[in-house]
Amino acid sequence: MEEQSTSAAPQNQDEGVGRRGFVTGALAAAGAAGLGGPASASRASRARRKRAPGRRVAVFGGGMGGLTVAHELIERGFEVTVYERKAWGGKCRSMPFTGTATGGRQDLPAEHGFRFFPGFYQNLPDTMERVPRPGGGTLKDNFVDGKEVSAFYNGTKMVLPAHGSIVGTLSPGSLLTFLSTAVKVIGNVPAWEVAYFLEKMIVFVTSGPQRRLKQWENMSFADYVKVKGKSKRYNELLVDMFTSTLVAAKPDKANAHTMGLMAEAWVYSTLGLGGYGAPDRLLNAPTNEALIDPWMDHLRALGVDFQIGRTLTELKVAGGRISGAVLDGTQPVEADHYVLAVPLERAVPLLNADILNADPNLKALGNLTTDWMNGVMLYLKEPVDLGRGHVAYAGQPWALTSISQAQFWKKRFNRTYGDGTVNECLSIDLSAWDRKGVLHGRTAKECTPEQIIEEVLAQLRRAVPRGDRVLKDSNVHSWFIDPAITGLATPQVANDEPLLINSPSSWNFRPESTTAIPNLFLASDYVRANINLATMEGANEAGRKAANAIIDASGAGGSKARLLDLWQPPAFNGFFADDDARFAAGKPNAFDVIDPYRP
Ligand SMILES: Cc1cc2nc3c(=O)[nH]c(=O)nc-3n(C[C@H](O)[C@H](O)[C@H](O)COP(=O)(O)OP(=O)(O)OC[C@H]3O[C@@H](n4cnc5c(N)ncnc54)[C@H](O)[C@@H]3O)c2cc1C
Repeated sequence: MEEQSTSAAPQNQDEGVGRRGFVTGALAAAGAAGLGGPASASRASRARRKRAPGRRVAVFGGGMGGLTVAHELIERGFEVTVYERKAWGGKCRSMPFTGTATGGRQDLPAEHGFRFFPGFYQNLPDTMERVPRPGGGTLKDNFVDGKEVSAFYNGTKMVLPAHGSIVGTLSPGSLLTFLSTAVKVIGNVPAWEVAYFLEKMIVFVTSGPQRRLKQWENMSFADYVKVKGKSKRYNELLVDMFTSTLVAAKPDKANAHTMGLMAEAWVYSTLGLGGYGAPDRLLNAPTNEALIDPWMDHLRALGVDFQIGRTLTELKVAGGRISGAVLDGTQPVEADHYVLAVPLERAVPLLNADILNADPNLKALGNLTTDWMNGVMLYLKEPVDLGRGHVAYAGQPWALTSISQAQFWKKRFNRTYGDGTVNECLSIDLSAWDRKGVLHGRTAKECTPEQIIEEVLAQLRRAVPRGDRVLKDSNVHSWFIDPAITGLATPQVANDEPLLINSPSSWNFRPESTTAIPNLFLASDYVRANINLATMEGANEAGRKAANAIIDASGAGGSKARLLDLWQPPAFNGFFADDDARFAAGKPNAFDVIDPYRP
C-alpha cells in the first residue's frame, strides 16, 4: 500500500447540510414530473399558512425513520421540524473522506455501510418514486440492478442466480426443485446436508403466521437449520454465507423468523414474483448524492424545517402527555406531537421514569440488543473484478461482504472523486468485530486501524481465487474506516452507531409506533414492521406508521401513508391455514422431518 490514510478527521457537524443547491432544480423537476404534493415554493408557503392548529410535529432524529415521517406529514399539511444531533441520513448516509480531493474533484466517497436495496423493498422505493430527481425522473430512477450475488469460499467463486423460474406451477415441490438447482454450485457441502437445508426452507415458506411468530421468532437461525452436528462446510458455506449475503447477519444471533422472511422474499424476487424488482439493487452514486440530499431538498421545499447539531436530551411529561422537549440540555421545544426517531440505544436512555410510568410497555425496549456492523472502504487505483453485485467472503472470521461501487455509478470515478488516480471504491461491511482475525490473532476491536486493513485484505485474499495476485498492496491507494468506531486497540474502543439485532424473541419486545402517551410516537428500525429486519425499509415503514398514527391523533383525516406488505403466494394459503392448525395442535410443520437424509 502506498498512501495510507485514516478516517481520523473529525466529523463535520454540518455533514450532509453542505448540499449543492438542488432546491430550485428539485422544484422545477417536481412540477415537470407532476408529482404529488406541493411543487413550488409558493405552494409550499401556502401549505404552511393553511396548516390547522394542533399540527405542529417535532421529529427527533434525521435518519430514514425521521425523514420518512417528515415526508408523509408535510405532504398532509403538518408543520414539521426535524432535529438531528449529528448527520442527516443517520446510518444510511454516505460521507466525504475529508481532504482527499484535488483539482476541483470531490472528496473520495465513503459509506457508513454499503447500501443494498433488495427487490422486495417496497415502501422505500415508493418514497423514492415521489421525490423528483434533479435533471428529471424520480429518485427511484437512481436504482441500478446488481447482475449477480456471489460468494467466495477458499478460492472458489459461487454465484446465486439473479433470475430463475419454476417448472409448472408454484408449489412446495416446484420450489424445492428450483432451490436445488440454485444451490447446485455449493458442491462442497455433503448432499444430505444441502437437502436438509433446502427442506428447512420449504418448512418456512409453508409455515403459517402463528408458527412464524410464535415458534420461528423464538429460535436462532443456527438452531433452526441445526448447525450442531453438521459439517464445517455446512456452517461456513450454506448457513453463514446465506445469512451474511442476505442481511449481513450472524446465524446464531438472528432469529429464524427474520432470516426465513428474507430468504423467501429473496427467492420470490429471483423468480420475478410478487411484483418485486431484481433481487440485488443498489444506487448509481453515493447514498447522499442519490438519495438523502435530493430528498431533503425536496422536503425543505415543501416546508420541512431541518435543524442539525440539535440533540434531544429530555422529554417532559405532564398530565399523561408529552408537555415539551429539551434540546442540548437547555433549549425547550414545544409541539403538538413528538416523534422519537432516534435509534434504540439512544431511545432507551431518553425513556425516563415519567415516560415509563405512563407507558410501562416501553420498558421492554431494554431487552433489545445491538451489535457492531460498520463500513470499511478500500480505494483502488485500478478496479478488481470481484463481482457484478454484492459479494460475501464465506468462511472468513470477520463476516465480510462487499460491493465494487464504481461499475454502478453514473459518473466516472477518477474524474469525479479524489486526486484523479482512484478508479474504484471497494465498500466493505465488517460484521464480526469480536472474532479473532487470521493475521494478528486479534479481534477487529483489538486491532489498530492499520491492522484492520491488513486483516481485511488478508481475509479477502484467502477467499478469492489467486487472492494475492488479485488484491495487491500496490493497488490500494488509501482506505477509510467508519469514524463511528473510536478508540480501536484500546480498552475505550466504542461504536457510536451500532445496529439493532433481530435476536430470538425480539419481536415480543419491539414496540408499535404508537405509545400509551397519546402524543408520543416512535419511528425507527426497531419498531415492529412487516420486513422484520433492522433496515432502511423497516425504518421507512416505521416512519409511515408513525405518520398515520399522528394523522389519527390529530383528527386531521384525509389519506393515510401507504403500508406495503411483503408478498405471500396466494397458492400457499391452504398450507398456511393447515400449518397454523398443526401448530395449535402442537404438531410440527408437515415438511419438518428430523434429518431425513442423514446417512
Ligand atoms: C454498516 C451498515 C450497513 C447497512 N446496510 C444496509 C443495507 O444495505 N440495506 C438496508 O436496508 N439497511 C442497511 N443497514 C441498516 C439501516 O442503515 C438502518 O436500519 C436504518 O438506516 C435505520 O434508520 P433509523 O432512522 O431507524 O435510524 P438511524 O439511521 O440511526 O437514524 C437516527 C438518527 O437519529 C439521530 N439521533 C440520535 N440520537 C439523537 C438525539 N438524542 N437527538 C436528535 N437526533 C438523534 C442519529 O444521529 C441518526 O441520524 C445497514 C446498517 C449498517 C450499520
